[in-house]
Amino acid sequence: MHFKKMKSLLCLPAIALCATLSISSASAHDATISSNIPASDTSVASIGMISSNEQVAIGLVRTTEEMVRAREELAARQAAIEAAKLAEEQEAIQAANPYIPNYERVVAYSPDYIANQSITANGTALGNFKLTFYCACEQCSGGYGNNTATGTKCTEGRTIAVDPKVIPLGSEVFIEGFGSFIAEDTGGAIKQNKIDIYLSDHDRCYSLGVAKANVYLMNK
Ligand SMILES: [Zn+2]
Repeated sequence: MHFKKMKSLLCLPAIALCATLSISSASAHDATISSNIPASDTSVASIGMISSNEQVAIGLVRTTEEMVRAREELAARQAAIEAAKLAEEQEAIQAANPYIPNYERVVAYSPDYIANQSITANGTALGNFKLTFYCACEQCSGGYGNNTATGTKCTEGRTIAVDPKVIPLGSEVFIEGFGSFIAEDTGGAIKQNKIDIYLSDHDRCYSLGVAKANVYLMNK
């Protein structure tokens, strides 16, 4: 029995083959015993001698691929939980800080129009823009008068002209220092990070001149 066990170890990793060899060189009685060896023996000395493929075949060890997959699945589950938590928190912040635009007012710079939490929670920062001011006069608007590119009437405190490639027409826009507007007009010189703010009279356009401000595209 001792000898056969040694032979079993030498025969490993092929457990089945080992059993066959044992049978062929032993009595019927011993064959019965030796055929029982692998099942009880694999967890002891022989386990270190069998290849990883065979360990998998007998269900003892997970492959590297299985472990990687399990780790990836765990990471994906954790990421999904984190994302759901973040979305829930974001919704709570939005609910606590509703964005209530105030249109159709006299436009002027005011430090009250800061990008507070109602803006940051409900909008996307687009960066710093160059601001100019225009009215419906010939000098500012040529022949277009107070008709916007989207078919509305220019209205102070609501109308701004934008580059539609940067800010889609119809968007709600928050301009820090100046408040809420709607992107409803375009202009030949209004490209990229430039916004033209409509005012109802030319003198104020002249006096406000050129400004710079952080701009937010608000969620609908
Ligand atoms: Zn003008």
